[in-house]
Amino acid sequence: MNSAGDSRNRGHKKNGGKKGLVQKSVSPQTSLNDSLEGEVREFLTDESQLHTFDDLTKVNPVTPTTVLKCLQARYSAKLFYTQAGCTLVALNPFQHLPDLYSLDMMKLYHCAPQPQEFKPHIFIVAEEAYRNIRDQLEPLNQSLVVSGESGAGKTWTSRCLMKYYATVAASSSGLKSQNTVERIERRVLDSNPIMEAFGNACTLRNNNSSRFGKYIQLQLNSGQLLVGASVQTYLLEKTRVSCQPADERNFHIFYQMMKGATEGQRREWEMPLHQSFDWLPNSEKQIEEDDFDETVEAMLHMGIKAETQRYILRILAGILHLGNVTFSSSGEEHQLCQLPEEAEESMQTAAKLLSVPAQEFQTCLRVRTLKAGKQSLLKPCSQTECRVRRDCLAKTIYAQLFEWLVSFINSSICADKSTWSSFIGVLDVYGFESFHVNKLEQLCINYANEKLQQHFVAHYLRAQQDEYVSEGLQWSFVKFQDNQSCLDLLEGSPVGVFSLLNEESRLNRASDANMLRVRLEKELSDNPNISWDKFSRAPHFTVAHYAGRVSYQIEGMVEKNKDPVPVELISLLQKSDNPLLCQIFADRETENPTTRGLAKVTVVSKFKNSLENLMSILLNTTPHYTRCIKPNPDCKPLTFKKEEVILQLEACGIVQTIQISAAGFPIRIPFKSFVRRYGLILKHLKKSGGSSDDLHVDNDKPPQQEVEQLLSMVLNQRSCDERCTLVHCGRTKVFLTQAMLDVLEDHRRNIL
Ligand code: ADP
Ligand code: MG
Repeated sequence: MNSAGDSRNRGHKKNGGKKGLVQKSVSPQTSLNDSLEGEVREFLTDESQLHTFDDLTKVNPVTPTTVLKCLQARYSAKLFYTQAGCTLVALNPFQHLPDLYSLDMMKLYHCAPQPQEFKPHIFIVAEEAYRNIRDQLEPLNQSLVVSGESGAGKTWTSRCLMKYYATVAASSSGLKSQNTVERIERRVLDSNPIMEAFGNACTLRNNNSSRFGKYIQLQLNSGQLLVGASVQTYLLEKTRVSCQPADERNFHIFYQMMKGATEGQRREWEMPLHQSFDWLPNSEKQIEEDDFDETVEAMLHMGIKAETQRYILRILAGILHLGNVTFSSSGEEHQLCQLPEEAEESMQTAAKLLSVPAQEFQTCLRVRTLKAGKQSLLKPCSQTECRVRRDCLAKTIYAQLFEWLVSFINSSICADKSTWSSFIGVLDVYGFESFHVNKLEQLCINYANEKLQQHFVAHYLRAQQDEYVSEGLQWSFVKFQDNQSCLDLLEGSPVGVFSLLNEESRLNRASDANMLRVRLEKELSDNPNISWDKFSRAPHFTVAHYAGRVSYQIEGMVEKNKDPVPVELISLLQKSDNPLLCQIFADRETENPTTRGLAKVTVVSKFKNSLENLMSILLNTTPHYTRCIKPNPDCKPLTFKKEEVILQLEACGIVQTIQISAAGFPIRIPFKSFVRRYGLILKHLKKSGGSSDDLHVDNDKPPQQEVEQLLSMVLNQRSCDERCTLVHCGRTKVFLTQAMLDVLEDHRRNIL
């Protein structure tokens, strides 16, 4: 830990040494080789020293290639955090590094007069946010936005941040508040294992993948002590309950129950040791997260009583038995689907565990009630319809249970509004996703990322502006092409992808996929952000996101957006003798939503609302961005795959910020260095212009004057306006465009 300060200082020294001394970057489109040859090389960062750069923007030149090399060098040197301007880049080490996150480390960063002088670390971000509040900087409340692809380390980082605050913001003095504070910190941290047990699953990308987005607000009192928290969750992937992608698993909690149950529980749940469940694939896999005792203990700490826990677990066991219910084809349209013998048994067990009337349960799954005016018509469901109803029942119960858990957690950890005065929000949401097949979920997730990116870019531009201002430059920056047009395409009203999707959901037409495709093509044909591949078999549309193009499958989108739950199923659950199950469905409507009402409750509109809510919170806070990067897809330590990393740098906007900075005056050269390199141009111009001035560069002259004189001579043919688009002199540095640098380099070459 005592070495924490070394690297940064070392990095600075190296920056000031012979090589890599100029703050310079080139446009990312130009590659290292074709833009900078010969002489200019001596301005470049010495590659053997790349790992010493604590800040990617100081690498010279800043291109995707050099940034990548720098990150790789640091990764090999076990330096997992790197600053990138106002963003922290966190490479997932995929190994336990207890020393890096120890209590001592927390203290070190917390107590340091200038934590920024230490090696980049997530604790610097945490501490910065904390001090902003202490120092009453505006906006007072802070947001820590953690992003990255699945398995990159978002959840790990969020947990780490929470632990940091639970430690440094704990009441350390006096015993008076010790009790409540200790309890509250504990409970805030205990929300993690509970939510992870119910909301995380083992996927191909991450053994502990969060299947929901999360925003947690840590509430601080006027003495900056943690007094409570509140959680908001987004888009739980509830389909996973009834359908697990190949080689992936269901939510952890089910496996925890299977492995950790007592004898008594097994009997109650009718779950003998080696019982197999259709909805529990890959249960032989050993996963660290399968810790039932931890979940149970956390629930107890949270205040979920043993009796309530019993109700929760019975419901979950009921869901597992429901998954073993299969239907055979009835053959005839008007006949009920039959249940094979074992399925009959599973059905009985499920009914028992869910504490619902068995007969009605059976009927609900196999018979549809059609309302025609005042009359009700009963219609047997097809085999497929039966399965859909079974899955729908499981998903609905699970999602509602998750929601109940989250609100219980909130009621247990949220402090009274009068007791807290500021908050630090930690946002852990899915990163940009682009799979082989992309559905409504990906559309929502990528939309959220598009929103966050817009927020990030605005913030980044502001930070850039700050440097210009501190150097005394007029702010005449870039009209950067932001992603508003893509957002308009998605959320535009009345014509945008979401509003058309909602309208189709409301219209309830038969061949909805086809209708949606036709309408999208018709209404959005002029939009450059959307395109269609006319020749593909399954209809889809392609959106040009800031992070790349993604094709979305249209089939099933309308249905998923409607997310219909047959009212018979809700009525059934409301009759449950399981008080918890009954309670969580108590407020649910048993009438089909009116078509008008439906547009308000579609998946897309609910998501859009909660996202708007989130964005308005973010807008009123001081943001801090952490970009988690997964160095290899196999979750192996010490393995850095360049191709994978560059894609992530693109998807998380690091490359885009490089482009933004290239669009302004990306090259910043301190006056002294500038004179050292280009002084001879001045000398030469004076000589050829017949100037009687001293022919050698005067070392005593303030360098700024020298620079001004040089620039006016080089640019003497150009108008003032033109000059302003190429170069500016700040207080200590020259700000240049790539074009201006080229002009200077040409001059220099001609002289030599
Ligand atoms: P995400 O939430 O982005 O999908 P996680 O936070 O779950 O990813 O991280 C995936 C795994 O990577 C974790 O389970 C952990 O094993 C490992 N990991 C992530 N960050 C770190 C870290 N800073 N130190 C050690 N291991 C880490
Ligand atoms: Mg996660």
